[in-house]
Amino acid sequence: MPSILHCMDCAQQYPIQRVIYTCEVCGGLLDVKHDFGGERISRQLFDGRLGGLDAPFASGVWRYKELVYPGIGDRSIVSGMEGNTNLYPLPRAAAYAGVDAIYLKHEGENPTGSFKDRGMTTGVTQAKALGMTRVACASTGNTSASMASYAARADMQGIIFLQDQQIALGKLAQGIAFGATCLQINADFDRNMELVQLVSERLGIYVLNSVNPFRLEGQKSIMFEALQQLRWRTPDWIVVPGGNLGNSSAFGKGLLEMYEVGLIDRLPRLAIVQAEGANPLYRHFRAGFKNFEPVKAETIATAIKIGNPVNLQKAIRALEWTSGVVEEVSDQQIMDAKAVIDSAGIGCEPASACSLAGTKKLVERGVIKRGDSVLGVLTGHVLKDPEATIGYHADRLEGIAPSYRNQMLQAADDIEAIVKLLS
Ligand SMILES: *Cc1c(COP(=O)(O)O)cnc(C)c1O
Ligand SMILES: [Zn+2]
Repeated sequence: MPSILHCMDCAQQYPIQRVIYTCEVCGGLLDVKHDFGGERISRQLFDGRLGGLDAPFASGVWRYKELVYPGIGDRSIVSGMEGNTNLYPLPRAAAYAGVDAIYLKHEGENPTGSFKDRGMTTGVTQAKALGMTRVACASTGNTSASMASYAARADMQGIIFLQDQQIALGKLAQGIAFGATCLQINADFDRNMELVQLVSERLGIYVLNSVNPFRLEGQKSIMFEALQQLRWRTPDWIVVPGGNLGNSSAFGKGLLEMYEVGLIDRLPRLAIVQAEGANPLYRHFRAGFKNFEPVKAETIATAIKIGNPVNLQKAIRALEWTSGVVEEVSDQQIMDAKAVIDSAGIGCEPASACSLAGTKKLVERGVIKRGDSVLGVLTGHVLKDPEATIGYHADRLEGIAPSYRNQMLQAADDIEAIVKLLS
């Protein structure tokens, strides 16, 4: 059976050739649903592809093609050899969080420096399969950097709806460098998200925000790859930052599918971590998922500065499937955790540090136990937001004290003075 689009609320189905993002009947979010029955899916199949050099299986997304998009022809795939990111056991981070061991999967090691590449290879592949020539997204930065790159590879025009302020410099630079059409709009992310959908419908442009279910199919592979790196042994916890909630939604779907096809024999628990100033899911979780209310988002972690997450319902479903929890952390906690990850020589952007900051808080609250195995996802690269990093160590961030400061030293052009300084 070919893959189909399936409404998560009313079960209405649509052929995958339709350009459609939400259900026409009830407005619900759509899943791409595959038929795994005819596929020979096993640990051996995926293990056998490790170390291979050829497309598409050398990609850390397409290695799992049978679970990601079984029906697509290999020649239609638009790939940048994404994925294949490292899984770091980090004793310093474990000690900081108060657990015996933590593994950090560094999605900042993707081609454009964030996990968005995993969703963009599948999203742009689908755009190409649909014959699209223009693709668009609203973005806090990383989605646009990734879309610009993959649109360029596929010879499509990428169109980016950006806020006119507070875009991290590294991300903006990528969008412009990769040749996308960059629109700076006097509106926040949540409004830009509405605008991109309305304008794209008028002009027949394909939307590549994570409301696009093909994005999530690629992002599932973070879980496939992490579990393979753990020799298919399920950790107790998966901890991930939550903004638009595409990643957490994809993790839920991917984990459940792995369980259903027998790649893993139990499900880990999902912990989604939000910034205190952008915590709509956290509030909703605390209120027992009654009466959702968006918030006006404000946080130094611009990648998760989102007040009205598009994938809310899928994230709730993922929490239900995995007995998951939601936590919130302050900007101070985010930047301190980032400094700990950075000082291990690994580094990440502010939003990513929610994984470690959130683990620490969940340990303090007794939800995660010291002996639990924890896999945290680092979502973006340290160079994405140099201003936040320098601002922290220079003690120039309002309301944040650099508890793990690496202060710059100044010296005159004088050997004796420098020797004295270093002694
Ligand atoms: C996009 C992004 C997030 C948030 O992911 P969602 O899927 O929107 O919840 C977190 N961190 C970084 C670095 C990102 O680029
Ligand atoms: Zn529906």
